Amino acid sequence: MPISNDQHISLLEKIDCHIQEFVSPQQYRTWFQTLKIVDLADDKILLSVSNDFLREWICHYYVDVLQKVIDNVFDNSLEFSIVSESASSAPRSSHYVPGDDGPPTATVKRKPTESTVGETTPPSALEPVSKKETFPTHSEAGGGSRSYVSPDTNLNSKYVFDQFIVGRSNELAYAASLAVADAPARSYNPLFIHGSVGLGKTHLLQAICHRRLQTHPNTKILYLSCETFINQFISAIEKGNIHHFRNKYRHIDILLIDDIYLIANKERTQEEFFHTFNSLYNAGKQIVLSSDSPPSEIPTLEDRLVSRFKWGLVGQIDSPNFETRFSILRAKARAMGHEVPEDVLSFLAENVDTNIRELEGAITKVIGFSVLTKAPLDCSLAKMAMRDVIKKPKAYITIDDIVRAVTKKCNVKLSDLQSKKRNHSITLPRQICMYVAKKKTALSLQEIGGFFGGRDHTTVIYAHDKIEKEISKNESVAEIVNDIFSQLGD
Ligand code: ADP
Ligand code: MG
Repeated sequence: MPISNDQHISLLEKIDCHIQEFVSPQQYRTWFQTLKIVDLADDKILLSVSNDFLREWICHYYVDVLQKVIDNVFDNSLEFSIVSESASSAPRSSHYVPGDDGPPTATVKRKPTESTVGETTPPSALEPVSKKETFPTHSEAGGGSRSYVSPDTNLNSKYVFDQFIVGRSNELAYAASLAVADAPARSYNPLFIHGSVGLGKTHLLQAICHRRLQTHPNTKILYLSCETFINQFISAIEKGNIHHFRNKYRHIDILLIDDIYLIANKERTQEEFFHTFNSLYNAGKQIVLSSDSPPSEIPTLEDRLVSRFKWGLVGQIDSPNFETRFSILRAKARAMGHEVPEDVLSFLAENVDTNIRELEGAITKVIGFSVLTKAPLDCSLAKMAMRDVIKKPKAYITIDDIVRAVTKKCNVKLSDLQSKKRNHSITLPRQICMYVAKKKTALSLQEIGGFFGGRDHTTVIYAHDKIEKEISKNESVAEIVNDIFSQLGD
């Protein structure tokens, strides 16, 4: 049945909306942005994406996600197929008949509803766990015991402690979360985790829920976003059932609210939350909060809340350092069934240093390119795959430019810099070269280390950190480095 333009737009909007509940914004942009509905029949829907690469990737990794989305959007169960726009012109207005001599399609058989999403999905293809029906009623969890989970508690099954890579940047938040899951309301109450976007706050909050429900299925847990809390409060006021709202929030064992800073300008919600907090806290119940900034930096947050948020433990998650980024990339690649060469991991860890969500996007993209083009997964493929994402250096400074400037300034020879010699008059200029090369070129750490006598990436990182420290405490080193930068036109 051909569908009208209006129907088309509203259905597509619904589908898009549901997809975004399952995948990260980065994944949505990468894989689903060009999704269109081509045709709709009673029991089938034909979708298209802009090219073969996207079609194959979606069919490989997101079949279950799409099926779930379609099940959510349509009342009757539909089978779906995807074509690529670039392969041919799809049968836009004709009735869709699978197996027609139409465009190459990837028809996806409907799976039984109990099939696990995740089997073919990469770890980053997110999967909300099914909503439990009522609260506090029972549902099966933890070996058939009764588990009390609010219907608002939508957990992603991938957000567990086992899949959280611990490094210096997040070890405190990780350890505190684990302690809270094992002994709520004992050591850290409230637990307040803050850090910027994409660094693992939601992952940790949900990991607490998973672990607690696994070890103590009877725990009454409520995990929800701050937005949901605000919306439910407003709706309770509008409907005049604030009593019911209070009852619900004050009879749980662990309350976890994600992104609590969103409460900032909501005076009445802050007032209500203050009472919720007190009542849970006084009853010896655990509260866990996450935020983009520490309590005292949340604008317009009432002082009495700021002080309560600091009662327990305030733990920050920082941006991961190179080693942690490297480990995360390797773990994500392994979870997708791929052993990625170290130099590729270093290249990505070096160039994608914003947050972990971006790291996930990068490794997914690089593996995707390799799988679909059947090209070996090496640095040149990674550079090609990431060419739109990776920042270009400000000026095209080559390693030769750097060596020329440093050898002149420090009066050393290139052969010394590339030798194994370790006396100070040579190691310092060598480390300066590495420092400047890391800052000013797009070369990978391997490439830089390799140039200076086949040294490995850890030597380059060491050199970088060492010179950074020296610059802050040793004027003569700072002067040499500044001079090199100005010779390079900085
Ligand atoms: P936030 O809530 O801080 O914005 P998320 O918890 O949503 O960040 O994390 C973004 C993505 O990065 C998620 O897919 C999450 O699983 C992943 N992630 C974050 N930190 C880690 C980590 N330490 N180890 C593995 N994956 C992580
Ligand atoms: Mg979050």
